[in-house]
Amino acid sequence: MAEMNNPLYKHYDGKFEKQEQPYPGVQNEMRPVPDCGEESYTASGQLTDRKALVTGGDSGIGRAAAIAYAKEGADVAISYLPDEESDAQEVKAVIEKAGRKAVLLPGDLRDEEFARNLVHEAAEQLGGLDILVLNAAIQQFEKDIKKLSTNQLTDTFTVNIFSNVWMLQEALDHLPEGGSVIVTTSVQAFNPSGLLSDYAMTKSAQVAFVIAMTGQLAEKGIRINAVSPGPVWTVLQVAGGQPQENIPEFGQNEPLKRAGQPVELASTYVLLASDSASFTTGQVYGITGGMPINQ
Ligand code: NAD
Ligand code: MG
Repeated sequence: MAEMNNPLYKHYDGKFEKQEQPYPGVQNEMRPVPDCGEESYTASGQLTDRKALVTGGDSGIGRAAAIAYAKEGADVAISYLPDEESDAQEVKAVIEKAGRKAVLLPGDLRDEEFARNLVHEAAEQLGGLDILVLNAAIQQFEKDIKKLSTNQLTDTFTVNIFSNVWMLQEALDHLPEGGSVIVTTSVQAFNPSGLLSDYAMTKSAQVAFVIAMTGQLAEKGIRINAVSPGPVWTVLQVAGGQPQENIPEFGQNEPLKRAGQPVELASTYVLLASDSASFTTGQVYGITGGMPINQ
C-alpha cells in the first residue's frame, strides 16, 4: 500500500524556537532544518533529460523543486546570492548524487544585466532550457507604512516582479514547445498582511503577470502557472520575513495547524513542469495548509 499519513502530523507540528538571521539567511543554520526532500522525495522518472533553471534554488521551496527535478531526471541550474554558497553547495551535492548535472549561478537579481544573462548562462551550461522556475523573492516585514523605505520598496519590486519579467523575456529565446514556466507567488497575493504590504503587492502582481502571459505563451506551445504557498518553514521567514514573536506558532493558525515543509510543494512543481500537465496553464495552485486562495 502506498504511504498514507495524517497531514496534521506528517511533519513537525510543535512550536519553533525564535531564531533570527540577517537577509538572505542560510537554511543550514535553522532549527529545525527544513525538509527539502533530500531523503524524503521519491521520484518516478517524470522529467528525464529536461533542463531546468530554478531561481532561489539554494534553499526552501526552490531547493525542494530543484532536488525533485534532479531526482525526476532533469539537469538543474540554480541561482542564489553569493552569501548563500553553503546552501547551494548542499543542493549541488544532492543533484549530483541523483546522477544529474548541477549548475551553480550566484548573483543578485536586483541587477538587470545579471538577471537577463542568468537565463542565457543557464541555457548554455545545461545545453537548453525547458523549465523556468521564477521563485527567488525578498520578504522583509515593516509594521509601520511610514517607515517603509524607498530602498526596500525598490528591492522587493525589482527581485519579485521586475526580474520575473526580464527573465521571461530572455527565456523565450530558449524555451521549446512543451516548455513550462512556474512562478512562486503567495497567499499574500490574496490575503495580504499589513506588515508585508510591499511583498504582498508584488505577489499579487505576479498572479496578474502569469494570467496576462498565458495567451502569448500558449501560442508558442509554452505553459505558465503559479504556485501559491501558505506558511512554509523556510529561512525567508527568520531572515526578516516575520517579526520574531510570530515564529514560535508560525503556521499554526491554518486548518492543518502547522507550517508546511518545502518538500510538500515539490510534487506540484514537478507536475506543472511535466507533460502530464499538458492542459494546465494560467492557473494558481494553492498549497496553504487550508487557507483559501481566490482570484
Ligand atoms: P528562501 O529564503 O529559502 O528562498 C528565497 C530565495 O530567494 C533565497 O534563497 C535567495 O536565493 C533568493 N533571493 C532573495 N533575494 C535575492 C536577490 N536579491 N538576488 C537573487 N536571489 C535572491 O525562502 P522560500 O520561502 O523558499 O521562498 C521561495 C518563494 O516562496 C518566494 O517567492 C516566496 O515569496 C515564496 N513563498 C514563501 C512562503 C513561506 O512561507 N516560506 C509563503 C508563500 C510564498
Ligand atoms: Mg536561500
